[in-house]
Amino acid sequence: MEQLQDKSLVKQSSYIDGQWQQGNGAIDIINPANDDCIAQVANAGIEQAEQAIAAAKQAFPAWAKKSAGERAQLMRKWFDLMMSHQQDLGRILTLEQGKPLAEAKGEIAYGASFIEWFAEEGKRIYGDVIPSPAADKRIMVLKQPIGVVAAITPWNFPNAMIARKAAAALAAGCTFVVRPATQTPLSALAMAELADRAGIPAGVFNVVVGDDAKGIGKVLTQHPDVAKFTFTGSTQTGKALIEQCATTVKKVSMELGGNAPFIVFDDADIDAAVQGAIASKYRNAGQTCVCTNRIFVQQSVVEEFTAKYVEQVGKLKVGNGLDEGVDIGPLITQEALSGVTKLVEDSVAQGAKVVLGGRTLDMGKNFYAPTVMTGVKNTMPIAESEIFGPVSPIISFTDENEVIAMANDTDVGLAAYFYSRDIGRIWRVAEGLEYGMVGINEGLISNAAAPFGGVKQSGNGREGSKYGLDDYLEIKYLCLGGLDK
Ligand code: ADP
Repeated sequence: MEQLQDKSLVKQSSYIDGQWQQGNGAIDIINPANDDCIAQVANAGIEQAEQAIAAAKQAFPAWAKKSAGERAQLMRKWFDLMMSHQQDLGRILTLEQGKPLAEAKGEIAYGASFIEWFAEEGKRIYGDVIPSPAADKRIMVLKQPIGVVAAITPWNFPNAMIARKAAAALAAGCTFVVRPATQTPLSALAMAELADRAGIPAGVFNVVVGDDAKGIGKVLTQHPDVAKFTFTGSTQTGKALIEQCATTVKKVSMELGGNAPFIVFDDADIDAAVQGAIASKYRNAGQTCVCTNRIFVQQSVVEEFTAKYVEQVGKLKVGNGLDEGVDIGPLITQEALSGVTKLVEDSVAQGAKVVLGGRTLDMGKNFYAPTVMTGVKNTMPIAESEIFGPVSPIISFTDENEVIAMANDTDVGLAAYFYSRDIGRIWRVAEGLEYGMVGINEGLISNAAAPFGGVKQSGNGREGSKYGLDDYLEIKYLCLGGLDK
């Protein structure tokens, strides 16, 4: 923290209605790399969540009334400030979350890119004029901001999961209340400080930090003044929150868990597949919802792929994310570490083999070695669960239909990846995969211009792209009659 250029980016209380509000007691923010307490943040509760909603409700009419260009100017300033403080924001993110600094700075640029992109896209919220079946009538469609948006976000992308939602909401003319994950509120509060400096009016962007996830969650999902609820997190929590939203029939979008297949066909460029798999698997120590979860390799190339993959994975450097050259940081908590350890052990008990790693590392409490497993079956715990850790299970297959069936044999459908150079196969497989996003000969697919989201129990709604605005807009139909003289 001492090395930050701008220490006033570290805030210690919730940001509500343009004010830094106190709470009851404090939450310790722990660096997962070494267990140090890096800051304390006031613990807000139900009352503060209600205040934030009231502030967002009050700020809504004036924000909605601004032209898209006026909103874009303020958002552009916010974007510029995030980019000019990228180094500090990255450092704060690494300190509270653990990911390597280069990745953390990448996340800041990625999060900021949504603010820039949606600020511009907000100018293109076009309505429609529809040919009327009656000569004396005209049919028109307006798109209007839905109102107050409430969000709950996870710890794995403390900046970007907020930016992706807030950017679209604010560009559409909505006001916004977010409860960030308890482990990683500092990045959210730093965003609020920069929103404040950018001149985004009080009440438009609010951050409520509190450890009563359930209590605050109930307010955000059930309050009658919240029109839309958006969540990124586990499928289990998402399901409970959807149920809560039913009480007031809120518009809901959900970015939930995945179980991404990564398929390597025998005609693939194997070296490119190795690089793609590493990028999609080991980013953020495997703790992303689009991380490769199961690597399927066609029988005839499984030996070649595995040898090259193990060699490359073995070179990844694990350590404190602030240290030079580190590729993989700690997992977020000890519970996360025990979860990964158990998945590996249970799968080994069922016949899987660890060919690299497969153990915790003695450099802090939360470090797990980059791991590769072979002889894995699609029904083993490591293949059926979302791993959220640096473990690659390799499953071999013989034919295309078999692997599509195995890839789809899960309740979730967020991201999938495959490598092939056969154009017919590329179409067949891309169309056959029951996933919201498919990377073809590419392991990193997410950006502000593209629609991010899942099918099946991975959720609904899309973040990013022109489709991302729809989640924050209502369609209003106007029928103008009596045109005959
Ligand atoms: P993860 O396993 O990634 O922590 P969760 O779905 O448990 O996934 O958490 C995602 C976010 O949801 C976090 O901000 C967490 O604090 C919050 N959360 C967890 N449980 C609840 C709940 N019952 N009600 C509201 N928010 C919750």
